[in-house]
Amino acid sequence: MALEFDGVTKRYGGTTAIDDLSLSVREGEFFTLVGPSGCGKTTTLRLIAGFERPTDGTLRFCGDDVTGVPPEDRDVGVVFQNYALFPHMTVRENVAYGLKFADPPGGVSEEERVRELLELVDLEGFEDREPDRLSGGQQQRVAIARALAPGPDVLLLDEPMSALDAQLRERLRVQVRAIQRKLEITTVYVTHDQEEALAISDRVAVMRAGSPEQVAPPREIYRRPGSRFVAEFVGDNNVYTGTVTAVDEGGNHATLDVGPERLTIARDADLAVGDEVVFCVRPENLRLDATSNATTATVASAEFLGQTTRVTLEWHDRDLLVRTRDPLSGQVTVGFDPADAHVVDVR
Ligand code: ADP
Repeated sequence: MALEFDGVTKRYGGTTAIDDLSLSVREGEFFTLVGPSGCGKTTTLRLIAGFERPTDGTLRFCGDDVTGVPPEDRDVGVVFQNYALFPHMTVRENVAYGLKFADPPGGVSEEERVRELLELVDLEGFEDREPDRLSGGQQQRVAIARALAPGPDVLLLDEPMSALDAQLRERLRVQVRAIQRKLEITTVYVTHDQEEALAISDRVAVMRAGSPEQVAPPREIYRRPGSRFVAEFVGDNNVYTGTVTAVDEGGNHATLDVGPERLTIARDADLAVGDEVVFCVRPENLRLDATSNATTATVASAEFLGQTTRVTLEWHDRDLLVRTRDPLSGQVTVGFDPADAHVVDVR
């Protein structure tokens, strides 16, 4: 494992920022920490960089205990949200600053290293510019080049795109991913944007109150959220609670009372009659032409999003979200395939 947290806790006075965290990041992996503000993402990154020391527990790099190792001895490159470029220095000087405390890797000259890096981040020809004459995305690519200059083993990115507009963010995330793939560098990325996390990562840790709720590849996080929190935090979702009234003979389906309705779901967890079940169905899986679990609901509001419209339906005093191509109004019938329901909790 490139990085390993083993029972790491970080407290600031009475606040527990990180709570008994055990987590591994693989060599060459693009690993993302996502979660609401205050869940401990930045603290986790600062612990890896060595800017903070754990109150308890051990941190390892490739099996070696680095818990007490100072930041300058950690072989880690860090990119912050606000670029932190030196305004009075040119692009070349900013990138070369990354070599102030370390020699370029591979025995190349400083000049050659800067050239390599500017090629990598697609900024050849910008050597003599000062940061205020670059776009936000270009500035952030200079910051990435500077962090990579000494050839670190690990790249840490703390909300590097949050100051950029939506279009730039999408472009930059494709570029960041391409750079990471090319170098095959172990990368830990922090964002509060769940869509960005799904788009960019090999694996995602959804954090809540100082510990991860689920660690999995993006598709699994989306399709099989491990808890109600993950189901509600990542993407739009419909989360229901019901009581199991029957399990069919083959044991493949369970029937639940959900409010005044009776719904059938695939039995993707061990369910028995009487269990209280929390399950979810994604809006794109609530369908107007479904033959299973058909029920009547009333259109409450609609948001046109271009390719689809996100429609909120009212159903027994609760909201149901549906994605459709065509506008809807009045009363509609919606249903879902039992296999599109996913159980997140059983009590
Ligand atoms: P995130 O990056 O997910 O927004 P942080 O890691 O910044 O979360 O913070 C986690 C918790 O630790 C928060 O409750 C925050 O207020 C607290 N915290 C972080 N840094 C400090 C600090 N230097 N002193 C006191 N409390 C802190």
